[in-house]
Amino acid sequence: MLPLACRPPEPPRHLVILCIDTLRADRVGHLGSPIARTTPALDRLAASGVTFERAWAASSWTVPSVASLFTSRLPHRHGAGVAGEIKLLGDSSPPGGIRPGLATLAEVLQARGFATASFAANPFLYGRFRDGFEVAVTERVSAAEVVDRGLEWLAGREERRRFLYLHFMDAHEPNHPPQGYFEQFANPGAVPTPDDGRWIDPWRSVDDLADPAFLAHKDRRQAAYAAAVRYVDDEIARFLAGLARLGLRDDTLIVVTADHGEEFWEHAAIERGWGDDPRGIWGVGHGHAFFEEQLRVPLILAGGGVPDGVRSPCAASLIDVPPTAFALLGLEPEPDWQGTDLAGSFRRADPACSGRAVFAASSAYGPEGLAIRIGDEKFYRRGGQPDLRFDLARDPGEHQALAVEATAAGRRLLSLAARLEAAGGTGSAAPPLTDPALVEELRTLGYL
Ligand SMILES: [Zn+2]
Repeated sequence: MLPLACRPPEPPRHLVILCIDTLRADRVGHLGSPIARTTPALDRLAASGVTFERAWAASSWTVPSVASLFTSRLPHRHGAGVAGEIKLLGDSSPPGGIRPGLATLAEVLQARGFATASFAANPFLYGRFRDGFEVAVTERVSAAEVVDRGLEWLAGREERRRFLYLHFMDAHEPNHPPQGYFEQFANPGAVPTPDDGRWIDPWRSVDDLADPAFLAHKDRRQAAYAAAVRYVDDEIARFLAGLARLGLRDDTLIVVTADHGEEFWEHAAIERGWGDDPRGIWGVGHGHAFFEEQLRVPLILAGGGVPDGVRSPCAASLIDVPPTAFALLGLEPEPDWQGTDLAGSFRRADPACSGRAVFAASSAYGPEGLAIRIGDEKFYRRGGQPDLRFDLARDPGEHQALAVEATAAGRRLLSLAARLEAAGGTGSAAPPLTDPALVEELRTLGYL
């Protein structure tokens, strides 16, 4: 028997995943937010754990991206949100669901004896997204309510290991943070208008990007978003304090991430030139393009077994969360997961991990597309448009498209894109939308 000091530490017993809908990485303080004080709680959590500086969502909208998080598969494999040409417009047909037969993270953990619960404020997370959760509540409520429900569930008597999934919706439009938050981020004297936090943005098809009235709106719109992010961050601080109060903090692996980011007109000009969004919208929101503001997300791991204060340069994807979490929880991964166990990358230095390929696919609006990043090389294919390549080291804002075939990296990206497309397919039929309240929620959010 090994002496006590030589035994490997026990893995954490519990898993908590906190998903902040619509949180772009560059509004997170330690990931380079130009706006101060947006995420003090996430910054503290990252300082006590591992944060991935190059994490990508698997798509730029909720359904395919959360399905990737839940199945460790890319969108063309799990099929959710992939079926159909235009998935969110024209009629009330819902986006395709996760293919039957693919076990979700909750189903796998439940089969291995975990108690499971999900409290999700995004109305899309119904159907297969609820499978495997013994308690699954999908309701558009505030972050405070999501946190209250999560803590209440954790406080119950339960001997089994636990998996809790919380999904926060407050950073998703419409952004209406509680009183006092907007003022912390707006220019002095700015007063929010009813339009500033709306999904159907009054400037959704702006032509003059220098119009002073537009610029004032853009400032207020971003202030409303930053305020909403800070509100969620404050609630996450309250959740983490509650976890500690329950005595579970040291025995829980905590994962914080987002399903996609949000655009604030960074690529309005090129999107206007494409002119292929059936809504006639460009420049704002998400689900319509694969630029970094929509794909790059935070990914923080903290808790038992995770080292302190590691800033990982590894390329990471949401599909890597299940195998990484399982490694840290001391569980064997599912054999057919597509993601990679990243735990090894921060347990030992792995210089190759920053150059591994990560992928995104499945647009909500307009033609299908896919994006691939290898190191600082990025490839973006959008149906009906010339392929784009960017050097993210020299051009992080993605404003200078380069010739794709001019380099070996470009040719590798093309060949990867061909392989990904050849592996494509359609998803299962999603359950019919029969709940009037859910239909109304999706309509309010601009999805129907
Ligand atoms: Zn989302």
